[in-house]
Amino acid sequence: MKTIIVLAYLLSSVLFILGLKNLSSPKTARRGNLFAMIAMLIAIIATLIKNEIVDFTFIITGLIIGSTIGVIIARKVSMTAMPQMVALFNGLGGGASAFVALAEYYRLTGGLKPHIIISMIISFFVGAVTLTGSLVAFGKLQGIIKSAPIVFKAQRFLNILIFTLFLIAGVLLITNPANNAYLLAILAIAMILGILLVIPIGGADMPVVISLLNSCSGLAAAATGFVLSNNILIICGALVGASGMILTRIMCKAMNRSVSNIIFGAVGTISKDIKKDDKQKVIAYTEEDASMMLENAQTVIIIPGYGLAVAQAQFALQELVKTLINNGINVRYAIHPVAGRMPGHMNVLLAEANVSYDLLFDLGDINNDFQNTDVALVVGANDVVNPSARADKDSPLFGMPILNADQAKSVIICKRSLSPGFSGVDNELFYNKKTMMIFGDAKDSINELIKLLKT
Ligand code: NDP
Repeated sequence: MKTIIVLAYLLSSVLFILGLKNLSSPKTARRGNLFAMIAMLIAIIATLIKNEIVDFTFIITGLIIGSTIGVIIARKVSMTAMPQMVALFNGLGGGASAFVALAEYYRLTGGLKPHIIISMIISFFVGAVTLTGSLVAFGKLQGIIKSAPIVFKAQRFLNILIFTLFLIAGVLLITNPANNAYLLAILAIAMILGILLVIPIGGADMPVVISLLNSCSGLAAAATGFVLSNNILIICGALVGASGMILTRIMCKAMNRSVSNIIFGAVGTISKDIKKDDKQKVIAYTEEDASMMLENAQTVIIIPGYGLAVAQAQFALQELVKTLINNGINVRYAIHPVAGRMPGHMNVLLAEANVSYDLLFDLGDINNDFQNTDVALVVGANDVVNPSARADKDSPLFGMPILNADQAKSVIICKRSLSPGFSGVDNELFYNKKTMMIFGDAKDSINELIKLLKT
């Protein structure tokens, strides 16, 4: 039986790795998900058979409660609220790892070897930081907590002081494992640090923070794997930790920021508002004006953003693209890496509408083409085309590469108002002379455009 369980864990690990590999491209992502689901099923069955940790009553009760909550949440959550859900799941993952290690601490009290107690400390610390940090990230994304950076004097000094206290408590626990006061101190310190580390981070940086916390939840699980001497937990935790770290690096690159700058930079506390006079100059154009401009274009680049997901206009947009292509116009989509509210959000949304992958272009592959493009059609996007990212050093967006919509000969923007995007920054592109603002729900505007172009 032992050999079967080891082989099952090995098979599960290989499938997890294949799953991750397949998830790296939209074309193979469904297969990747399938591999990962089978891997998880095998891991669960093998663990149930092993059944050394707790008895079936606890396992089945936990499974029923957890699955019921999971199914209800997954069915209710809208696509646009996905990052909050991911943040919450990361937090619960980190918290669960810390709690399992805690249970093991009380089970083994007295007979703790140094390497086990060190793994436990890592699990308590990383797990508890992930739990409270993710709850703050959830609060910011959900609008319960102010999304702008919350900063105060001597914030970094306080963080360093708290971290030093953690190190002292950790050393004391290693030298005296039976004293659970040190353990409780570590948990309390880590929970406070989780809050303090995330509150100074601005809303626009939240995707990176979530990815980092995801990586932390993996590290906490791997540490708990060492505590339990459970190989599959170590491997899965390491995979989550590594893939989360890789995603964090990719996103940092996309935003042209370093991880330390995001965590310690408190970027974007001040940002220039566009002058009132400029706001008054904005003309509301009609779909008729926009359709005339599109009819006369030879090349069009479409920039989808979060508003496309809110309006659920992906199907209408694809219909518009087909109409334009039928009229002999060269049409492509430009996908910004942080457009929408989760990594790959636009790819998922457009895949729903069966958009061919050949029409999708990443920022790096299309950004130089805007200058030779007749129309940049911005649908529900805002921050990803905000030129303040290039010039305004105080902007929360400063340094993030943007799609060069402003370099196209004309720009059409479909959104409901002049409201800012996720980062809360005004967008000077709305006030540019070559920009045509079409105010309204993206789906209604696009449907109107289709009607006009077909007549
Ligand atoms: P933004 O959030 O910058 O802007 C979206 C715009 O959509 C808003 O300005 C809004 O304007 C408009 N909008 C909302 N509803 C509708 C509707 N029904 N019809 C038409 N327009 C609508 O989106 P972007 O995609 O440009 O940028 C993404 C932002 O989100 C970045 O700041 C990024 O850092 C952040 N983020 C990204 C994550 C990711 O992983 N991709 C995760 C979390 C945050 P109005 O109200 O006037 O209509």
